[in-house]
Amino acid sequence: MRTGSRKAHMIWSATREAYKLRPMADTIFTKILRGDIPCHKVYEDDRVFAFLDIGPLSFGHTLVIPKEEAATIDQLSDETAAAIGRVLPRLCRAIKAVTGAEQLNILQNNGPMAHQAVFHVHFHIIPKPSVDRGLVMEWSSTKLDPEEGARLAAALSKEIGG
Ligand code: AMP
Repeated sequence: MRTGSRKAHMIWSATREAYKLRPMADTIFTKILRGDIPCHKVYEDDRVFAFLDIGPLSFGHTLVIPKEEAATIDQLSDETAAAIGRVLPRLCRAIKAVTGAEQLNILQNNGPMAHQAVFHVHFHIIPKPSVDRGLVMEWSSTKLDPEEGARLAAALSKEIGG
């Protein structure tokens, strides 16, 4: 192993351990929910809270979070998931109307390797006003093998009970 990659691995391991051990109460979003630190609030109901991202990728970049304490989306209750799903399109309509952006991305990161920095579930709504503003990403697609795809879909379907 080269020194550089060993260092990268050590940083990744430390981040991963911190992520696993981090108590939910410590997140900055919990402090925002409690009103301990300020934010630019956009929306609130019984289960959902939305506010402007402090480091916007574009004008109107908004974060939508559950009031329920969950680090990643797989830990979220169905009730809260439904509440977020119900309000996301309305928030998108408002953001489009106010910013004038006709296109946008919704981004939801889970885990440090997947670019999650705050370990409280959040959805980014990121207006895409131009090619170089908003979310810019590399999409490294591969080709799905049909047999492997059939096996995988069956396994997932069995797991979810669908
Ligand atoms: P993620 O990388 O998906 O975990 O995104 C975390 C987001 O939280 C980033 O876009 C940050 O700019 C944003 N953020 C961090 N602290 C605050 C804060 N105090 N108020 C608003 N947004 C924040």
